[in-house]
Amino acid sequence: MEKHSVIVWFRRDLRVADNPALAEAAAAGAVVPVYIWSPEEDGEWAPGDAARWWLARSLEALGRDLQRRGGRLIVRRGPSLDALRELTQETGARGVYWNRLYEPAAIARDKKVERELVRDGLEVKTFNASLLIEPDELRTKQGGVYRVFTPFWRAVMERVGECNFEFQSKLKFELRTENALRGENVNIPCRFEPKRPADWIPGEAGAKKQLDRFIKNHLENYPVGRDRPDWDGTSRLSPHLHFGEIGPRQVVGRVCDPALNPGVGSQARPTTAFIRQLVWREFAHYLLFHFPNTPAEPLRPEFGKFEWKMDKRKFEAWKQGRTGYPIVDAGMRQLIETGWMHNRVRMIVASFLVKDLMIPWQAGARYFWETLVDADLANNTLGWQWVAGCGADAAPFFRIYNPGLQAKKFDPDGEYARRWAGAEIKPIVDHRAAAMAAMAAYRRFKRG
Ligand code: FAD
Repeated sequence: MEKHSVIVWFRRDLRVADNPALAEAAAAGAVVPVYIWSPEEDGEWAPGDAARWWLARSLEALGRDLQRRGGRLIVRRGPSLDALRELTQETGARGVYWNRLYEPAAIARDKKVERELVRDGLEVKTFNASLLIEPDELRTKQGGVYRVFTPFWRAVMERVGECNFEFQSKLKFELRTENALRGENVNIPCRFEPKRPADWIPGEAGAKKQLDRFIKNHLENYPVGRDRPDWDGTSRLSPHLHFGEIGPRQVVGRVCDPALNPGVGSQARPTTAFIRQLVWREFAHYLLFHFPNTPAEPLRPEFGKFEWKMDKRKFEAWKQGRTGYPIVDAGMRQLIETGWMHNRVRMIVASFLVKDLMIPWQAGARYFWETLVDADLANNTLGWQWVAGCGADAAPFFRIYNPGLQAKKFDPDGEYARRWAGAEIKPIVDHRAAAMAAMAAYRRFKRG
């Protein structure tokens, strides 16, 4: 192996294009690309079942992509530090490069790994691959942390300008990996299997295809389409973004590229509406970084005293899509069968769980974690706290979605419900009575 080889530690940046750690390493010499399976290091939030299904396929795709460029992805079992040390000894690599993560467990692990490798005399370089702006780069004028989305959005836009991203998607390079290096047969266990696997193409090529399909067919109508679960009007990029098979700089670059998006234009309302959702993703990561306890605890601490209460039978009915409310049941079935659910329906089913059934939002967040292929600690935490009314810039608790009215508005012909929900069953609660009970609980909470 060449003296100046550098290890690239892949994590959730499973792509070749616009991957600064890989590009920098390739420019320096031979690259040793490695992925280390170390779920224990994610603490309470090791990848859930459906996400593991995705991850295994994404690694296969990355392996093929690297091979095409003359490299070979080494997959090893953690602990990460031990695996990296072993690999530096086997290869004589002079450094380890990686792209940064923002979950509290990953930050703590990475700090330790960096400290130890530097102590070993290795060069460590880390980069931003997965956000437009990193969480420590943005502060309010008073030096505080943003808790409201609109000023955050404005600040992000001011900093980056909507279409001003420099990214390296066309970067061409060759990889050289020593063939004699040991790979491990790492088993990433999972029970999830989507009913129609063809819906998803994990990996970088699948991500690009999905984005281009969205730009061509759906972007123009996105401001309306994004709320219509019966249409196929959103990008479905969430698992690709979560695993870093495509980065947000690339997504913004492509939606603003006049050659790809001639009909809509970079400044047009649909493009801005779509970029705004990407900035919600930025906001979620920003909040998780600054408030690392929020996956378990409400951002507004007073909500720790709210009278949510587990009811196992009702929780089970919700999970199985057997609540008797067709839009809720359709969403939960879509989740079981595909590992994904439309955003509007995520809000409806989440509201139903925490308000109609009064079950703690943390239980819903945990179930989503196991069942979503796009399960993402930042986005999931923000989504659940938003619906429960206890997060940053959240919907007020008293906004209780009426599943019947939501269905009328966003699935007017009942097509989505028919596609996913099973046979009609008797509702497990009466929505009107449940909403009144939730409001009474809210009033007691407000009185303290
Ligand atoms: P598009 O509408 O095409 O949006 C493009 C991208 O913007 C998405 O891929 C996503 O990365 C980002 N985005 C869109 N909406 C949001 C949002 N509200 N918050 C943060 N980012 C957003 N998203 C996840 O990626 N992982 C989760 O675990 C997750 N859990 C959620 C839980 C609840 C209760 C709720 C209400 C929302 C959750 N979301 C989560 C956010 C959102 O539902 C999904 O990102 C979206 O449905 C993905 O579909 P899409 O890629 O077609 O979205």
